[in-house]
Amino acid sequence: MTRQIQIVGIGIHTKTSPCAHACRYCLMGRKSSDGVSTARHIAVVDRFIEWRARNKTSDFQIGQAVNYASNLSAEDQGQLMQLHKRLGWARLTMRIHLGGLPIWSDAEIAKWLRVRKASGVETVHGSLAGHGRIHDYWNNRKGDFDYLLKIFRFAADEGLGLRQRLFAIKSTLSILGETVALLDQAGEPVERYLMPFFYRGTALRHEQERISKRDLDALAPTAQYLLDRDDHRWRSEADWVSVLRNSSHDAEPISLQLELTARNIETIEKSSCDEILERLTKQTLTAYDAIPGREELLERWSDDQNTYIYPYAQDVERLWLDRYLRENPTKFERHLTHLTDRH
Ligand code: SF4
Repeated sequence: MTRQIQIVGIGIHTKTSPCAHACRYCLMGRKSSDGVSTARHIAVVDRFIEWRARNKTSDFQIGQAVNYASNLSAEDQGQLMQLHKRLGWARLTMRIHLGGLPIWSDAEIAKWLRVRKASGVETVHGSLAGHGRIHDYWNNRKGDFDYLLKIFRFAADEGLGLRQRLFAIKSTLSILGETVALLDQAGEPVERYLMPFFYRGTALRHEQERISKRDLDALAPTAQYLLDRDDHRWRSEADWVSVLRNSSHDAEPISLQLELTARNIETIEKSSCDEILERLTKQTLTAYDAIPGREELLERWSDDQNTYIYPYAQDVERLWLDRYLRENPTKFERHLTHLTDRH
């Protein structure tokens, strides 16, 4: 049975700057720039904000992301912070990401942070996969852990809050305590959380690193405090089967996905919001019609004995869809669905 969906919004994504990293777990697709400026991205988002106000559809959700590194000009960064305010986003979004930055001198780092803070940035966010050589392996850049630690230290000196995501995978679990101790040297974080790999992007090549419920139980007491065992991030496939089997069977709320690229930006700019939504809705419904609905994926392609952990419902549903597609190769525009295997 095909999936019943309800379009509730639009997500607008643009890769405005290339990434200087090639992380082995990256969930992005290409890491080069799309050739669309941040200003053009913001202009498209603003048109949808105006469209929403004009049509008095305040519950229509508008998401947006400038993907990859926060290595944008200070002016672009400041413009994005203003956009977040126009979208009514929480202060959590007044942050910059440290992944994907080139290697800079100390003076360059300090200046970069100072200028971003002046443009409204409040926190910096970095992802870590263990420390030292293990982190450097996963982030595919020698010296990356020390570099990140240095930026955290400089950011704390500048008065910026520190947000740290620690990947909990087989090769980092035993050094979580050490990683935390090293990160503490940079200052107390405003947020520090553990995360398994997403089931998406290049992380799919490293499924042997996915942890199970048993691995969690064996976590050292010094790292247990980082875990909220009730959080959905620590559900196994078996847990998800039971949660989703008992969840509502109403139409699923879905956001349309609009990726701005050098190929489509002029067409998008010349089209009205209604035209864009109509076109994208048609393409999206066609994509969903080509694949089974969630209930069918769950009943026929899930494994209710699997104790490996998947952080989000979309992750486990992607897993089921992949099992289905292996036996039923299907051509469809996967990037338009919430089961996309990129960005
Ligand atoms: S995870 Fe982020 S920083 Fe790493 S390669 Fe992907 S986009 Fe770049």
